Amino acid sequence: MIDFGLVTLLVIAIAVGWLLAWYEAKKKYTLIKNTTSNLNRGYFLGLNYLLNEQPDQAIDEFLNAFEINSDTVEIYLVLGSLFRRRGEVDRAIRVHQDLLARPNLDPQQQSQVQLALARDYLSAGLLDRAERLLEELVAQGGEYRHSAIDDLVNIYEQEKDWHRAIEAGEMLLKIGDPNLLTVWQKPKENVFDKPRPAYNDAQIQCALAHYCCELVEHAMVMGDWLQAKQYLKQAMAYDRNSVRSSLLLGQVEFQLGHPKEAIKLLKKIRHQEPVYFSEALPLLDQCYRALNKEDEWLAYLKSCLVEQVDLSLLLFLADCLQKTQGDSAAQRLILDYLPKQPTPSVLQRLLVYKMQSCSHEEMMITLTLLQQWITHVVELSPKYQCGHCGFSGKTLHWMCPSCKRWGTVKPLA
Ligand SMILES: [Zn+2]
Repeated sequence: MIDFGLVTLLVIAIAVGWLLAWYEAKKKYTLIKNTTSNLNRGYFLGLNYLLNEQPDQAIDEFLNAFEINSDTVEIYLVLGSLFRRRGEVDRAIRVHQDLLARPNLDPQQQSQVQLALARDYLSAGLLDRAERLLEELVAQGGEYRHSAIDDLVNIYEQEKDWHRAIEAGEMLLKIGDPNLLTVWQKPKENVFDKPRPAYNDAQIQCALAHYCCELVEHAMVMGDWLQAKQYLKQAMAYDRNSVRSSLLLGQVEFQLGHPKEAIKLLKKIRHQEPVYFSEALPLLDQCYRALNKEDEWLAYLKSCLVEQVDLSLLLFLADCLQKTQGDSAAQRLILDYLPKQPTPSVLQRLLVYKMQSCSHEEMMITLTLLQQWITHVVELSPKYQCGHCGFSGKTLHWMCPSCKRWGTVKPLA
């Protein structure tokens, strides 16, 4: 087995050694020989401590080995971020706090260290401390302002403080997309250090619409329909094609006793993003039933299936047919589509309907075993997947729990 702890220690040692070599090469013609040998001694002592699993003593040696100036600050920033990435946040905090206390940093370096320390606090879950440091950086208005606001958005999302997330998102939109800056305009920053890649303008607008939708859901729980509608208007202003907004507005209209309006809104989803249409089916079913128009509903579902074969639509229609017209109608539909959609879930549904009308005992035993096995297969398979990181699961998360992106988790076909 590979000892990952040891491997990471070696990586840290090599990185510090490489940076030391770079620093010395840079100072080749100006450094006094004595200083160089002191640096080497400090480096090897630090390395020795690292290899002996004594990282705290190693930090002391490294911090004493170099004088802090515009060149060596980079070395400590790398050392600190390596500790953070190794999960040793306490040590990363120590390195960065030590740096921040040095009086000879210029304002730009001070901001860079402050950002790194804020990210240590963020990794350690000390959100209030991270928030304070980042707010200072935003107030300073320097070149790290964009990164600081971006990290603040991350904190507000974790705290579910949607109002402040909206304010911060608005600020990002005003400042402009950092991805459009040229290499020379971009602030010096370790991109691997970021808690999450920066959003571009379209992603910010998508996230802003989701923040509003979170507020809508809260207002709905409180029964404040007027407020819910206001937040929905805001969400749609950010993202006209927000499927979540259409779904929520459909729910609000239904709750307010307007099923016709709800139907119109929910049907729009088929054109906005067809893959999410299955999410609207249960509510559409409720709306049509409230209007006593079940026949119209069945005809609409059938016409959708003719236009495009969709697995969840097929299974939903089969269930509707079974409830209204019995097992054989549902079976006929499934048998029609089984050759086009030979998936375990379609087969499982057919077996369920078959068993309800089966009378032969031996046949019943075989079908039961087959149905149990295939149900197990269907239950194990995920229903949703993130198009960005591949995370999959059984419930719809509007924000991917793995990569923390909004609107990337979609129903699987
Ligand atoms: Zn993801």
